[in-house]
Amino acid sequence: MNECKAIWKAVSSQLEVQITTVSYEIWFENLEPFTVDNDILVLIAPLKSYKNTIKQFNDAIDSAIKASGTGIKGIKIITKDEMDNYLSSLESADDAFFDNEQTQQFNPDYTFDTFVVGDSNSIAYAAAKSVAEAPGASHNPLFIYGGVGLGKTHIMHAIANYILAHNKNTKILYVTAEQFVNDYIDSIKNNKDNDLNKQFRQKYRSVDVLMMDDVQFLSGKTSTQEALFHTFNDLYQFRKQIILTSDRHPRELASLEERLQSRFQSGLTVDVTKPSIETRIAILQKKAYIKKYDISQKAIFFIAENITSNIRELEGALNKVVYFCTLSSKSTEDLDAVKEALKDDIDVSTHVLSMDSITDAVCAYFGVKKADIVGKKKNKLIANARQIAIYLINDMLGVPLLAIGKFFGGRDHTTIMYSRDKITDAYRNDRLIQSQINDIRNMLEKK
Ligand code: ADP
Ligand code: MG
Repeated sequence: MNECKAIWKAVSSQLEVQITTVSYEIWFENLEPFTVDNDILVLIAPLKSYKNTIKQFNDAIDSAIKASGTGIKGIKIITKDEMDNYLSSLESADDAFFDNEQTQQFNPDYTFDTFVVGDSNSIAYAAAKSVAEAPGASHNPLFIYGGVGLGKTHIMHAIANYILAHNKNTKILYVTAEQFVNDYIDSIKNNKDNDLNKQFRQKYRSVDVLMMDDVQFLSGKTSTQEALFHTFNDLYQFRKQIILTSDRHPRELASLEERLQSRFQSGLTVDVTKPSIETRIAILQKKAYIKKYDISQKAIFFIAENITSNIRELEGALNKVVYFCTLSSKSTEDLDAVKEALKDDIDVSTHVLSMDSITDAVCAYFGVKKADIVGKKKNKLIANARQIAIYLINDMLGVPLLAIGKFFGGRDHTTIMYSRDKITDAYRNDRLIQSQINDIRNMLEKK
């Protein structure tokens, strides 16, 4: 054990000078040297997600190993759970764990459990779950489409992880459409006769489940489409499950052969769309919980309000805020620090719509103090301003009532609902209120 500690010390001190301090502190400082196995240094990571991220540092790791002069050949990252497997595998002298190629194709963090279900993806989720429970039996093919970063790949891997957890002998092949095209081109190169190369056939037609990600990439690639058409038919005939994803609906896949388009649509086609603010909040909360981040509700709302494009960016923003605040020893309660962390992602200098900025505009308009409006005062002017702020926040940001209540000094969500409904009604029937609201909206939109 001491030997492996010394080796890690030598390697890590080389690594430290090769990559940024932030990356080093986040991804490498928490690794624990465990053992040396066949000249491979085995390290234990606190979370599964480390494994994938650390792969991105492979080059730096390789040169750190060389520079360390320790003579090891590489490193291997395992989690605590896997360490138990590892120990029992030593006992049974069975090292299947190390080269279980099947499971290594899939991101262990992409499961149904870590997927947050909301209006934007509940149908895709339900379809995926039923396919995972009975591959080949319910929806075949399953076609999932939607914009970038909205969870298509996550759902696909979740299906695979689920199937393998219940039946580890299922043969699942996951490829991106790009890999498929490359495989196909290789097969032609290595093939003199005009028949599909044997290896290619075997690879694609011997599986129980074929997953192909991002099929929009096949557009215009006529001969690959032909190969896929035949592969598809063979698999389908034998009731093998096919799952496809794309950034758009099959009928909008330009220059995709019509017969392939209609094959794609012959099962179930479902979409994932942009998440609502409630779902964005739920996703941030779940990610923060999984990653054991200590982050304020305030910061979570701010991120959810301002990052609306997709979930990958939402996650990126969450990481940034936490790292930035940790490294600069600031609290995530401090919205200025949060804004600073996200300055490249949102237009903070000009105008950010948030509960704060809307409330500020309302206060400026009515000439009341923010402390009063979020406080207990009941005089008419303040109560009116408060109700209008509540209405606008709900209308412009769609923030859930509970969260608005919290913002306004811990008011009950029924109070918030009452204010919202009252102003909604007044907006229709009361000219004065209507023009006040329009003025404030203009103020906010012009900023
Ligand atoms: P796509 O394949 O649609 O471009 P991904 O599946 O790669 O998107 O998702 C991007 C990131 O967002 C991933 O880290 C994924 O885990 C996360 N993500 C997407 N949807 C959800 C969700 N509903 N719940 C939790 N995380 C999600
Ligand atoms: Mg994807």
